[in-house]
Amino acid sequence: MARKITDAPGVGKKAEEAFSKLGVETLEDLVEFAPRSYLDRRAERLLSAASQEDPSIACRIYPIRHSYFPTKKGRTLKVLAEDDEGRRLEILCFNRPFLESQLVPGSEWYINATVQKMQNGMYQTASFEIKRSKEDAGIGRILPVYPLSGSLSEKTVRSAVNYAITMLSPFPDSLPYGLYEKYDLMRDDEALKEIHNPTDFAKLNKAKRSLIFSELLILELKLMRDKDFSKRRKSTITELESKLISSLTFSLTKDQLKAIEDIREDLDKKDPMNRLLQGDVGSGKTLVAWISALHVLAKGKQVAFMAPTELLARQHAELAQKLLAPLGINVALVISDINSKARKALLEALRRGDIDLAIGTHALFSSDVEFRNLDYVIIDEQHRFGVNQREALINKGDKVNVLSMTATPIPRTLALTLYAGQDISTIKTMPKGRLPIITHLVSNEKRMQMYKAIATEFTRSHQAYFVYPRINDEGESDLRDVETMYEELKKIYPGIPSALIHSKLPEEDKIKILQDFRDKKLMYLVATSVVEVGIDIPDATCMVIEHADRFGLAALHQLRGRVGRSDLQSYCFLVFDVKNYSKDAGERLKVMRDVTDGFLIAEKDLEIRGPGDISGTEQAGFLKIKFATLTESSDILELAASAAIEILKDDRGLIKAENAALRKALS
Ligand code: ADP
Ligand code: MG
Repeated sequence: MARKITDAPGVGKKAEEAFSKLGVETLEDLVEFAPRSYLDRRAERLLSAASQEDPSIACRIYPIRHSYFPTKKGRTLKVLAEDDEGRRLEILCFNRPFLESQLVPGSEWYINATVQKMQNGMYQTASFEIKRSKEDAGIGRILPVYPLSGSLSEKTVRSAVNYAITMLSPFPDSLPYGLYEKYDLMRDDEALKEIHNPTDFAKLNKAKRSLIFSELLILELKLMRDKDFSKRRKSTITELESKLISSLTFSLTKDQLKAIEDIREDLDKKDPMNRLLQGDVGSGKTLVAWISALHVLAKGKQVAFMAPTELLARQHAELAQKLLAPLGINVALVISDINSKARKALLEALRRGDIDLAIGTHALFSSDVEFRNLDYVIIDEQHRFGVNQREALINKGDKVNVLSMTATPIPRTLALTLYAGQDISTIKTMPKGRLPIITHLVSNEKRMQMYKAIATEFTRSHQAYFVYPRINDEGESDLRDVETMYEELKKIYPGIPSALIHSKLPEEDKIKILQDFRDKKLMYLVATSVVEVGIDIPDATCMVIEHADRFGLAALHQLRGRVGRSDLQSYCFLVFDVKNYSKDAGERLKVMRDVTDGFLIAEKDLEIRGPGDISGTEQAGFLKIKFATLTESSDILELAASAAIEILKDDRGLIKAENAALRKALS
């Protein structure tokens, strides 16, 4: 039976409401209400310790003298006091006339205050708490600091939490006993008490780690419960797959091989696959898709590959044609603007099963597209599609296997909550020989140097992208735009062939331009962010992003990922305007300069923006994560995941007596 929070002394209707906003409804919730940080109050903080960054003090003081100054309500008491080093503090007692009889000269008090140093060397405070004893003032302890809302104060929360602990302890273990030893965890009773009343930081950290571990273990168990942990059959690679792999001029990376194997095993299982393939831009996901497709194609079944734009669909179809047609696979491009006669023939061929692999855009899920035996759907850049669109395609076959691919890597903890129930393969290793892209931050004034550096790249027959946030100036803004800059760059690079590309161009023009760029008939493109996703031109080595401060980290990383796609050294220039440059923008640019790993960038992004900003994170609330943090708990998550697998392998139904606590937590 849950107990009402208003049972705690000092918690009335108003406080109840404020607690409710923080997700705390019962005394039980209070026990699991995690502090957001801690104050080290083990030693006193005398006046001399107060600084701009941390103006707080906590120490013994001795009142010396009273005086008064006039205010609207009459007069207000000002107490002059001294600390143990003899430094002086003026205490302004607004609305607290009763302090006159307490802070009498010659008495001794303990104070917690936020102070300000004044011109004359003395300190002043109007925001303070005073206590008779060191203990009451929290001095000598590590103090928890809780998230607050409404009229709640730290003091109310602390005392309510401690009331709940007294009423409800001892707390039973949530894990089987053996796990505490195995993973060096603190028992729940000790851990819950420790996070609210820490004895020292080592114990506190162990307590936090323990609570996070059991929370994530239970979460993993929930997500894994229905999975099949029976020993996987080693599935055998088909001749088609081996042929393709041996025809490559390079060798696959370790992570590519692992992903291919994971997918192959899934494809051979009775239940349909639902797997997410995440890998940084340029990590070679597409090839994994084609090789895995062959596993299905070899059985005479059909495969559909869905891309977010026509441009990408064409690029993929071209590559697939080159790689797969020699193996006897019939590849077709399915887009919306093919004329009706050709379309009719195409649809007929798909229905008959004459086409093995259909690559297309959203045109693929139109209702007149039918397959003979669709068995496998691959979705590139999966976040660009809605759930209904995916469903429409998947429903064109029976028990269809699904591989979703994303180049927007997200921290594992978040992945777990966003893609609950999906298996995940991750490509972390980049193809051999790739050099990290060198990123320069370029202030507006230094742009000439940048232009020169790029000119040198042109002489080596390397190519470049220039990206601007908008198509044209529209008369009102001082932002550089593609149309103006296209003309300006022509003057800077006379005689070097270039083209302008943006979303408003007709599709066929875009395709022609990209083809010419690929064939090196063009040396640079002046573009809006249409080049953001997926485009793969190996000899492009320079990416210039103007007004880089206006782009988010994910977009910057995607754009930068258009270069560095071969063994050539590539460069990214982030041009920014010193004038309008927010603090966040500055942080983003620094992250881009210093970090090339997309996973790290995604974590930084989360840090800068805060998790609330990322779509779908409401689910984190739904999953009721209390102790774990999305960005910091990933090591513990790995551990918890492997512990969960071990437990389920041994006891699928969690029916053994030792797993009773887990069974209860899951119900
Ligand atoms: P993304 O993961 O961003 O979709 P792609 O699949 O487009 O990346 O691959 C980027 C480029 O790397 C392509 O030109 C591809 O042919 C090449 N590539 C893929 N795997 C390897 C590898 N193992 N070694 C070398 N190059 C590779
Ligand atoms: Mg791709």
